Amino acid sequence: MKRDKALVIFSGGQDSTTCLFWAKRHFREVSALTFVYGQKHAVEVEYAQMIAEKAGVCWERMDIPFIGSLSHNSLTDPTMAVDKEKPAGSPPNTFVPGRNLFFISIAAVYARERGIYDLVTGVSQVDFSGYPDCRDSFVRSLNVTLNLAMDEQFVIHTPLMWMDKCEVWALADELGVMDIVAADTVTCYNGIPGDGCGECPACKLRRRGLERYMEIKAKKTI
Ligand code: ZN
Repeated sequence: MKRDKALVIFSGGQDSTTCLFWAKRHFREVSALTFVYGQKHAVEVEYAQMIAEKAGVCWERMDIPFIGSLSHNSLTDPTMAVDKEKPAGSPPNTFVPGRNLFFISIAAVYARERGIYDLVTGVSQVDFSGYPDCRDSFVRSLNVTLNLAMDEQFVIHTPLMWMDKCEVWALADELGVMDIVAADTVTCYNGIPGDGCGECPACKLRRRGLERYMEIKAKKTI
């Protein structure tokens, strides 16, 4: 079986956009699947569609609103404010329990129907913000489970797993898509595209990574 097709689990944020272009480099045919899970900021989905069009990949959205209603978290509950800092000993209130478990499992079934067995997700254990379902052990475990569940040979690719945000910017630059990632992605917990609100933890992490990368790049070009 020739493995030349990949499906990217695609939120339209910095990480999954970088993964989308990484997949385009490594696979002949790339598709992107965006989940609408009750997140407060629907603008993410519009941007995801726009980026997929720019990348020239097949894009589909899938509505799975039950994910957001299963738990109380600040990404889906409009009455809950986003934690400014991660509380000690527990994930921040932006953690949506089961999100990556459901996303990757649904994506695998969707991919299988289309003859795709390579899945790509932008999770990272380095800048994982305390989310247990961004860790390598979880992804490997789910990969085994999916193969057993469907008697298939899925491979879940996690190109960013051991990268910090600075290295993710470097990868985007290397892939020639720094401009798209900087201007068109939505990482901000307040749903503001590009540089975002500048105040939420996601914006701070993104900005610190970019500043560090630009410093390193400037030193290299001197
Ligand atoms: Zn923000």
